[in-house]
Formats: sequence, C-alpha cells, structure tokens
Amino acid sequence: VRVMSTIADQAAIALENTRLYELATIDGLTRLFVRRYFDRRLEEEMSRAARYSAEFSVGVLDLDRFKRINDTHGHPVGDQVLRAVASAVQRNMRSADLAGRYGGEEFALIFPRTGPKAAAQGAERIRADVEALRIQSDQEAVRVTVSIGIASYPESGASSASELVALADRALYRAKEKGRNRVELASREPARAIGSG
Ligand code: GH3
Ligand code: MG
Ligand code: MG
Repeated sequence: VRVMSTIADQAAIALENTRLYELATIDGLTRLFVRRYFDRRLEEEMSRAARYSAEFSVGVLDLDRFKRINDTHGHPVGDQVLRAVASAVQRNMRSADLAGRYGGEEFALIFPRTGPKAAAQGAERIRADVEALRIQSDQEAVRVTVSIGIASYPESGASSASELVALADRALYRAKEKGRNRVELASREPARAIGSG
C-alpha cells in the first residue's frame, strides 16, 4: 500500500506540474501560446537561424474591424469569434509552426525554415479559411476577416527578433491601409548609407 501511495503521489505531482505549465504557457481563451512563451520561442528560432544560416518567417495577424463585431453582437460573441479564428490559424499551420496570442485580438506566427514566399502562402491559407467562417451567434452567422503581415529572416534585413516582429507589424499596417482581408510581405529595408546621417 505504501509503494502504491508513493506512486500515486508522484503521479499527482506530475499532473499538477503539467497543469501549471499549461496555465503559464497557454492562453485560456484561444488555446494559443501566451506572448511571453511565444517571445522565448522566437528568440530561440532567431539564434538557431543565425547560427545555421537558415531562414524563417514571422507573421502578425490582426482581426479586421473587430471592435464593430463586439459593438454589434456583444463581447461574448466577440470572444467566440476570437476562438474560431484561433482554431482556423491552428488548422492551417504545420506541426513545426507556432502561434501565440500577441495582444487582445492580435496573433503572432512563427514559420520555421520557411522563406517569405511559402510563409505568405501559409498566411493566405489562414486568411481564406477565416473569410469562409460563419460563426453562429444567437441571431445570425457572424463573419470576420483578418489582415496578416509577414517578415522573413534574413530576407527582410532584420537582425533581431524584435526587429523582425516590427517589420511584420509594419507590413500588417500596410495590409490594413490597402483595405484589410489581405496578406502583405515586409519590403526589404533600404541599406543605410555608411557615414551619412
Ligand atoms: P482594425 O481593422 O483597424 O484592426 O479595427 P479593429 O476594430 O479590429 O481595431 P481596434 O484596435 O480599434 O479594436 C480592437 C478591439 O478588440 C477592441 C477590443 O475591445 C477588442 N478586444 C481585444 N481583446 C478582446 C477579447 O479578448 N475579447 C473581445 N470580445 N474583444 C477584444
Ligand atoms: Mg489590434
Ligand atoms: Mg483589429
């Protein structure tokens, strides 16, 4: 009995550790990774890519006119929409890819060993899938679209993880300006002239 009870205690501790780890790394609403965990994985991906001269891409995704959805249908339906978009993101990413909840209605994506062209194709799959969603609320089927900005290392010229996210964010801003519901690639930063400025 004593041996069994020791084993049960160990199992309980292991379960509790798993639960705590999940609480610390997974966002409760969307089931995507929390930002802190995502950022750590992004730093790792950056060092790996730099060390092995590999490429990878990041995406920043933002729901279009989401405030209007909250205002029209209420916050609980807004939450339901967020969850549906998060599932669409997960469905369309490969097992090595990683998605995190970056802000309220902003998700960030890591595409390891993926250049800008393939990352844009992945993002486009997500965009199209979200556009096709019909999220059932009490009264009607709610529709939503997303805009996505993509930046790649080393293609974009970014030399740090935060710089890469900033470039993806700028591309996202451009996608919004161009009318939303689209994927935009970061344009390569013009090289700074040596000795000027
Ligand atoms: P844009 O296309 O320019 O992104 O317009 P937008 O309305 O999506 O952007 P804005 O930043 O004005 O609004 C974001 C909204 O997202 C405001 C905020 O209430 C809502 N939001 C953020 N987090 C949550 C959440 O967890 N649940 C719900 N229901 N709404 C959220
Ligand atoms: Mg936003
Ligand atoms: Mg938005």
